[in-house]
Amino acid sequence: MPRVLIVEDESSIAESLLFVLQAEGFATHWETLATKGLEYIQQHPVDLVIMDVGLPDITGFEACKQLRRFSEVPLIFLTARGEELDRVVGLEIGADDYVVKPFSPREVAARVKVILKRRITTNAESSTQQKSVNQEFDVDEQRKVIYFFGALLSLTKLEYQLLEYLIKRPDHVLSREQLLQAVGIANDANYDRSIDTHIKTIRSKLRQINEEADPIKTQRGFGYFYQPS
Ligand code: CA
Repeated sequence: MPRVLIVEDESSIAESLLFVLQAEGFATHWETLATKGLEYIQQHPVDLVIMDVGLPDITGFEACKQLRRFSEVPLIFLTARGEELDRVVGLEIGADDYVVKPFSPREVAARVKVILKRRITTNAESSTQQKSVNQEFDVDEQRKVIYFFGALLSLTKLEYQLLEYLIKRPDHVLSREQLLQAVGIANDANYDRSIDTHIKTIRSKLRQINEEADPIKTQRGFGYFYQPS
């Protein structure tokens, strides 16, 4: 079931979209503020965003710019009639489509379907070329971020480096020394134990997203390894 986030401050518009999208079999979530919408996307898997341009806190454009720093989720803008300039700006900053108010919610639903279908086709093509690491983790090396079950992990630079190193070497037990070297820290007894602390923090961040998953294992006396589920 594709998940659609609606960020719109006018409840009548939001409700009409929610109604049609739910009837079409989408899972929906609605926020009235851009900042709340961004927060939601960081914490939940979302397949598509429908965002109003005129929002009470920051504009939809500004929100889209911020969104593109951490996510490539497809986005459709909703805006007032006749703002042709907005159309160009919106597409330039990374929106996938643009709908002018007043609109028919059914038309919006149809566009949502087209974009998602296009996305699925593109993803299928790219995944045959380059398989992502695995299903639970998704490493975006360009942006230096890691997704866990589709949710963005909030990691420090060191935690990112550690986790990336581990998940690229599934089922390989890595010693603390190896991990220290991998993240460019001096091999020193004081730092040795700090690896344990970082692993502990990473594990707790993973648990916040998925309580059952415990992919980073300890091999007593040796070190740590990543066990894909
Ligand atoms: Ca508005």
